[in-house]
Amino acid sequence: MKNLLGGKGANLAQMAKLGLPVPPGFTITTEVCAYFYQNNHRYPPDLKKEVKEAVAQIEEVKGAQFGNPENPLLFSVRSGARASMPGMMNTVLNLGLNDEITRKIAEKNPCFAWNSYWRFIFMFADVVMAAPEEELNEVLAGIKKERGLKLDLELSAEDWQETAERLKTKVKHLTGREIPQDPWEQLWEAIGAVFKSWNTPRAITYRKLNKIPDDWGTAVNVQSMVFGNFNQNSASGVGFTRNPASGEKKLYGEFLAQAQGEDVVAGIRTPQPIEKLKEIFPQRYQELLKISEILEQDYRDMQDIEFTIESGKLWMLQTRTGKRTAQAAVKIALDMVRGELITKVEALLRIPPESIESFFRPSFDHNSKKEILVKGLPASPGAAVGEVIFDPAEAGELVDKGHKVILVRTETSPDDIHGIAAAEGILTSRGGMTSHAALVSRGMGKPCIVGAEEMYVDYKNQQFSAQGKTIKKRETISLDGTRGEVYSGKLETIPAQVPQDLHEILNWADKERRLGVYANADTPKQAKQAREFGAEGIGLCRTEHMFFEESRIPAFRQMILARDAKERKEALEKIEPLQRDDFLEIFRVMEGLPVIIRLLDPPLHEFLPQKENDIEKFAQQAGLPKEIVAQKVEQLKELNPMLGHRGCRLGITYPEIYEMQVRAIITAACQIKKEGKNVKPEIMIPLTLGEKEFLILKTTTKKTIKEILEREKINLDYKIGTMIELPRAALQADEIAREAEFFSFGTNDLTQTALGISRDDAGRFLPQYLEQKIFQEDPFRTLDIEGVGELIKIGVERGRKTKKDLEVGICGEHGGDPQSIEFCHQVGLDYVSCSPFRVPVARLAAAQAALKQNEFNEAIRDS
Ligand code: ADP
Ligand code: MG
Ligand code: MG
Repeated sequence: MKNLLGGKGANLAQMAKLGLPVPPGFTITTEVCAYFYQNNHRYPPDLKKEVKEAVAQIEEVKGAQFGNPENPLLFSVRSGARASMPGMMNTVLNLGLNDEITRKIAEKNPCFAWNSYWRFIFMFADVVMAAPEEELNEVLAGIKKERGLKLDLELSAEDWQETAERLKTKVKHLTGREIPQDPWEQLWEAIGAVFKSWNTPRAITYRKLNKIPDDWGTAVNVQSMVFGNFNQNSASGVGFTRNPASGEKKLYGEFLAQAQGEDVVAGIRTPQPIEKLKEIFPQRYQELLKISEILEQDYRDMQDIEFTIESGKLWMLQTRTGKRTAQAAVKIALDMVRGELITKVEALLRIPPESIESFFRPSFDHNSKKEILVKGLPASPGAAVGEVIFDPAEAGELVDKGHKVILVRTETSPDDIHGIAAAEGILTSRGGMTSHAALVSRGMGKPCIVGAEEMYVDYKNQQFSAQGKTIKKRETISLDGTRGEVYSGKLETIPAQVPQDLHEILNWADKERRLGVYANADTPKQAKQAREFGAEGIGLCRTEHMFFEESRIPAFRQMILARDAKERKEALEKIEPLQRDDFLEIFRVMEGLPVIIRLLDPPLHEFLPQKENDIEKFAQQAGLPKEIVAQKVEQLKELNPMLGHRGCRLGITYPEIYEMQVRAIITAACQIKKEGKNVKPEIMIPLTLGEKEFLILKTTTKKTIKEILEREKINLDYKIGTMIELPRAALQADEIAREAEFFSFGTNDLTQTALGISRDDAGRFLPQYLEQKIFQEDPFRTLDIEGVGELIKIGVERGRKTKKDLEVGICGEHGGDPQSIEFCHQVGLDYVSCSPFRVPVARLAAAQAALKQNEFNEAIRDS
């Protein structure tokens, strides 16, 4: 019932249903939140009455009364949206306390009474009355300073009373209002504040980052309080039913004795590991283990829990499916399949494809060992290198300018979310594995180290020191989130070690997917990498980089500067053997798998020197007058190169270039055949706009190939096809398919030409297009399904109408994007092609696409 009750409310209800110890409470639904926003912050007419009845019910269960000084019932008022938004919205604890009630409780347990009252005033002033938090914090800090105390636990009952009273006065001073003494007034104000906290800036940012719709709204959970700060026999803690970083099947977490739960997550004191609970409260620890087991059986997934012990009795305050690292996600999924808790299919559907890319990324080379600057808790794994920045806003600005930064803080708070999103990695001096920094970093898949207590963060001087060393703002450090170690300077990296578990899961994925997965690879090295990651072919081999190499570019420039076809041919002859060797190596690596090679695509001016002194240098090398070179450079300049003399327009005007490339490809293929090996070259014409154009190029290509094959007396399987990257080509697909043997959707250019937006210039306005939801996603990352997707659909349908078994794939950036891959599956493409590192991501995403479609089909059949 998450949609109605919010995640927290639904799970509290479920835990109660399972018979677990949950403090009684009730939930005001997300529908009320929607009503609240649609009706000018008013509630539905019946709400008052319903809340009254619910409170009365709890009073009966608890045997205590809301507002009764002799036997008071206190509430926590908690937010809880459909999707978890940890710490982003507000909670008010200890609600129902006022001067009179507090004094009454203080007769028996003064320290607890005044500490709780201080907490209530603080939270109510902060959340409901919007008093500035720093100002509120000063009161406790002041008392501690006056008394020469460091820890909260050192304060006496009198100290807490003094703190509470001073805070009350300060709140009046800050807001011009008294803290309401009437518990019912407190309750209604807190409920309103929780609804309003749905729209705080940080909650809005969090939703944006996590793609949570703005109109979902939050529920409000009103729950009777249990007190982890009641006495020495009390504690509060948080935990995971399995290790969220490694996935190890072992209760994992931390707690604070004599504290309320907020203290644990806020990182105010560094909490104790849960193993210590075994020593202090051995029976509660066993109970917690049992509850973990029950929850995992019921939810069939790893859970993230909150609990409190009041006078030796355990209470469960929250459970939800736990966020985890990619490592943990893979291990947990596999362990649960082995433990027969979930099926292979469920395991496959559970791992976010995006997240597994990190496995294939390099890690630090620990042989090139450097001095460890400081150690902390390894909260989120991975290697990050960047400049030290202390201010989250500044981190965002620097990253926008192209820098890489590491955000260093004593601790992070939900307001820092922007800076965390921008940083390569996060380092904090305080907090535990479940602190805000740790939780958020893991969610974002960012390396993070917390609780590096040896480190002293000096915001004022914008530096931190550790082991007698001082690191200033903008200095580079390396952060190893897997080991929890920080190094000064930049550490070298080594290739990733992919765990066997992941290979096993990817093998399952391969059995489920229908889409082929190819890689975009331009060099033998990339091709090798792609095969190791499981690519079944090369979907896009770009040939232009081969000309950019220092040893080749002079010859290629000579070709461009040639005055006639003869001179051009002479220059091309110098390049041909080099190209042939490139292809030979790639074919060898790919061992008979399809290799789709795109003929020259970029405009020629990209190959010429642009700067004055480069032109001069080149002219000297080439033995040409400087003026001639400069003139040619000028001539080739285009107003709009993206739509200029490029792609197969070059092939039409300079047929010698494509002929040379085709010769290089086919001679290399023949050579491989002669070596007794298999080879599958596919020649791809870029930027085709129609059948006639394609036919001209195909005819010359065929002629060239025929000559070689006759000369070499070799039989070769090859294909000639085209990219579809113009709207016209998609619409003309039926015509083009008469001649082309395959299509590959070049969705980078197709997106540019369909939207009329140049990717390189979109930075100036795209952010606002996303902000105003004109686009849901960046169309250059995730396929614009309504527009570009429609063109692809048309292209596939029309193409296959002419040629039933036309091979169709995609080779733009989108080929590695899980959402786009799902679409490619649905429209019946044969394969997706993406960068080597994305190949594993694509394998999993393709399997998920197939499984989701099966589920969908079954659902249709059943209805
Ligand atoms: P968040 O969504 O930010 O986690 P919660 O609603 O879980 O906020 O509240 C924050 C903390 O307040 C909890 O972790 C828990 O420790 C404490 N808390 C909430 N409800 C109660 C309660 N009924 N009794 C005692 N402590 C509570
Ligand atoms: Mg919580
Ligand atoms: Mg293109």
